[in-house]
Amino acid sequence: MTEAFPIVDPSTGAAFTEVGMADAGEVDAAVRRAVRAQEGWAALAPADRARLLRRFAAVVDAHVEELAALEVRNSGHPIASARWEAGHVRDVLEYYAGAPERLIGSQIPVAGGIDVTFHEPLGVVGVIVPWNFPMTIAAWGFAPALAAGNAVILKPAEWTPLTALRLAGLALEAGLPDGLLQTVPGRGAEAGEALVRHPDVAKVVFTGSTGTGSRVMALAAEQVKPVTLELGGKSANVVFADADLDAAAAAAPGAVFDNAGQDCCARSRLLVERSVLDAFLERLEPAVAAWRVGDPRGEDVQMGPLVSAAHRDRVASFVDGSTPVAFRGSAPSGAGFWFAPAVLLPDRPDDRVLREEIFGPVVAVQAFDGEAEAVRLANDTRYGLSGSIWTRDLGRGIRVSRAVRSGALSVNSNSSVRYTTPFGGMKRSGIGRELGPDAPLAFTAVKNVFYATGEAPA
Ligand code: NDP
Repeated sequence: MTEAFPIVDPSTGAAFTEVGMADAGEVDAAVRRAVRAQEGWAALAPADRARLLRRFAAVVDAHVEELAALEVRNSGHPIASARWEAGHVRDVLEYYAGAPERLIGSQIPVAGGIDVTFHEPLGVVGVIVPWNFPMTIAAWGFAPALAAGNAVILKPAEWTPLTALRLAGLALEAGLPDGLLQTVPGRGAEAGEALVRHPDVAKVVFTGSTGTGSRVMALAAEQVKPVTLELGGKSANVVFADADLDAAAAAAPGAVFDNAGQDCCARSRLLVERSVLDAFLERLEPAVAAWRVGDPRGEDVQMGPLVSAAHRDRVASFVDGSTPVAFRGSAPSGAGFWFAPAVLLPDRPDDRVLREEIFGPVVAVQAFDGEAEAVRLANDTRYGLSGSIWTRDLGRGIRVSRAVRSGALSVNSNSSVRYTTPFGGMKRSGIGRELGPDAPLAFTAVKNVFYATGEAPA
């Protein structure tokens, strides 16, 4: 049965359309269509698959403004960010369009014949994405999976299905086979689980919370099905006394308030060497005050509303007076899911603001003494996704970046994601890597074939 789900504009709080939620039967029908489409897709010449993916990228390019406007309305992302996200989808598609012709196996020296490996597509891949970056995270899954010869069923988050639905439509407009990339909106417990449990879905890529990722992994284990999991984070932004404090403080708001903090890479813990803590906070306060929060349609807006009332209330529960507040930024009042950025100064190491993923514009500051304590605090979390280290000492930058247990670190920068480099987490932040040159390989199985030449037996 299909249930209509209201889609809300987070900047007004008002529903503006609704989307039907697929049930398990509709997921099954989609998988059947995908199985048929994948057979034809895998049989195409690699150059033809590459050409179609390039055309898909070109069609996305022609619709950047439309996709961006949809994301502003559905997710509350500032227009400048949403435009970047749509352009990123195009770039990811272009990048992986080169892959079908570069999935090169190997020829291994053996006696009595020739031994060859092939990278064969898995079949149908399920890509389950969250609401924080509905377009970009979807593309990280579907672009390399399609390039490797698979079909993809995309399950967007129930709150934010609009750009995912449009992207599947654009794939058809670009000439990709019917059924090759399908978006099936639905609730996680119903459509999501049906996708993971489906025997004809060969792999699942899941991005979202650690709890749900663990559930997806358990369901997939029943069928010995591979998973890639991109999960939560509690990343540290580590500022040493020898850092360029002006640069570090100017970059710190963006490190955690970008996308209203709804970012698995958000540096939601700010570790500052004690000797420069006051000097750093003096620089941070005006930078936070200048952070522009407002109507996401404004060209110069840096942060829009949070995605939903429920999520805004959850974020607000971390700023309830039980943890000292250093200072806050500003946000509009009235309708819409607004929340003013907050800088907290927890005085207990077990404060939940230092332990739990807040997923909002809230950062907790901690002081440290020396390199060893910085590394200990940075690693004092069950997560290990991202993080930054600010120092002018090259040796320290190398030592600390090697000692912090995170999958994606940057030194003197907040950068976490480039589509040309691998991305993923350690510890409870996930399993497997997305992006980078090897991503298509994660959607293939290696087949090894020995061709006997009739000489001496091997
Ligand atoms: P979830 O992990 O619950 O949702 C992510 C995706 O998984 C959505 O598409 C969701 O569908 C789907 N899903 C939910 N349950 C299942 C299931 N049993 N089987 C298969 N798929 C399922 O994240 P939430 O959206 O609830 O966010 C909760 C918290 O998770 C956030 O506050 C944040 O802390 C963290 N989070 C982390 C993200 C990251 O990138 N690391 C991204 C998003 C959230 P549906 O929308 O219908 O529930």
